[in-house]
Amino acid sequence: MTSQASHVHIIGAGMAGLSAAVELTQKNYNISLYEAAPQAGGRCRSFYDSKLDCEIDNGNHLLLSGNQSAANYLKIIGAEDGLIGPDAAIFPFIDIRTSKRWDIKFNPSPIPFWLLDKSARVPGASLRQHLALAKMMRAQDHHVIADFIDTSNPLYERLMDPLSVAVINMPPDKASAKLMANVLKETILKGGIACQPRLAAHSLAKTFVDPALRYFDSQSADIKFGTRLKSITQKDARISALNFAKNTIELGDNDYVIMALPPEPTGDILDFITPPQDYSSIINAHFKLDKPIRVDWPAPLIGLIGAAAQWLFIRDNIASITISAGDIWLGERSDSLIKKLWTEIAPILGEDPIQVPPARIIKEKRATLAQTPALEALRPASQTPFKNLYLAGDWTDTALPATIEGAIRSGVIAANHVSMSLKAHA
Ligand SMILES: Cc1cc2nc3c(=O)[nH]c(=O)nc-3n(C[C@H](O)[C@H](O)[C@H](O)COP(=O)(O)OP(=O)(O)OC[C@H]3O[C@@H](n4cnc5c(N)ncnc54)[C@H](O)[C@@H]3O)c2cc1C
Repeated sequence: MTSQASHVHIIGAGMAGLSAAVELTQKNYNISLYEAAPQAGGRCRSFYDSKLDCEIDNGNHLLLSGNQSAANYLKIIGAEDGLIGPDAAIFPFIDIRTSKRWDIKFNPSPIPFWLLDKSARVPGASLRQHLALAKMMRAQDHHVIADFIDTSNPLYERLMDPLSVAVINMPPDKASAKLMANVLKETILKGGIACQPRLAAHSLAKTFVDPALRYFDSQSADIKFGTRLKSITQKDARISALNFAKNTIELGDNDYVIMALPPEPTGDILDFITPPQDYSSIINAHFKLDKPIRVDWPAPLIGLIGAAAQWLFIRDNIASITISAGDIWLGERSDSLIKKLWTEIAPILGEDPIQVPPARIIKEKRATLAQTPALEALRPASQTPFKNLYLAGDWTDTALPATIEGAIRSGVIAANHVSMSLKAHA
């Protein structure tokens, strides 16, 4: 079998499906990508908002310079300059109750000299309290982050809580500590060089999606939008046909399928998958000011302590705030949430808390799985009982949280399985 003789069908054009498609296209495999929605990107998308009269993202997405899979993906699609951020691992914070401002600064090398510098650490927390967090690196499957730090420790409110919801989208008393440890190994433990904050320069679509679509176009890869997979036909432990809402595609003996769908549709289509049922929401509010926003923080984001939201991001004249693990706010009316959030951030921006600018609230109820130790155990591997089917998606077992990095890595893992399998049968 040669790569020319086989065809790889990738279902779902979120970051996992795009990543699998990019990886295989780069290796000269013939691919087709099928997406139910009219656009690619899934939970990492941008759209024109008529109320704000500009393009906005469904949610602020924070990456770190140590996110290697994301960096490789961007390199292949020619979008390496699509991420912006400071050349230092620096994270500004403000406590909105007291207006106290501080920065957490990691030195570039893996030796954590920053811990010896009081002005680089979390204020109010001793060196000993910082060092005690290292115990989390030995976290077992059943541990939550709060097993390694108690709520009276200043590091809880000022570091671990915002970090836990930003990375795991769960509060420390529910978030899997092992997942956090895995992220820390790839970032903070490698030094500040791997820990610089990164954001999409203009929009998620312009960084992660549009360049991938141009890349497919240049390589004659085939993408079909508005194409929803309904079911599969199986024969002899292989998938023999893909049944879409409007047509069926019969698979050749050498064809492979990568299913890069969220948990629920995967479970509807594949009987052997029992999808995890618990999700955690993320709410974003975008405020459009009438002039570009100028701030004196050393990065285009700031951690908010003592506020409903945890992070405020600045892009041109848009101030966007994120409430991760935001289930308690889902029932709140958008107009009252807008007022509340604006009251919290207006003073930081030097704006009038009473004059609320045009704003948009986006509630993503199923932003990620509830990444607790119990749900971690349910994440499926990429391999399946079918010889020609592999799974991808941020919820599959990547050992990383449900993030862009995790989703992209899951696509690479599935693509590698396909190419190894094709080589084995060549
Ligand atoms: C508001 C918000 C904020 C976030 N913040 C961050 C962050 O700061 N940093 C970070 O790294 N990550 C963040 N994430 C997580 C990140 O967006 C996701 O982990 C990632 O986008 C998931 O990609 P995926 O491809 O696994 O899944 P999805 O994006 O869900 O992609 C699945 C695709 O499959 C399609 N599909 C579904 N059913 C079918 C079907 N039957 N047939 C064909 N197609 C189908 C869907 O339309 C979708 O395009 C955030 C997510 C949200 C929602």
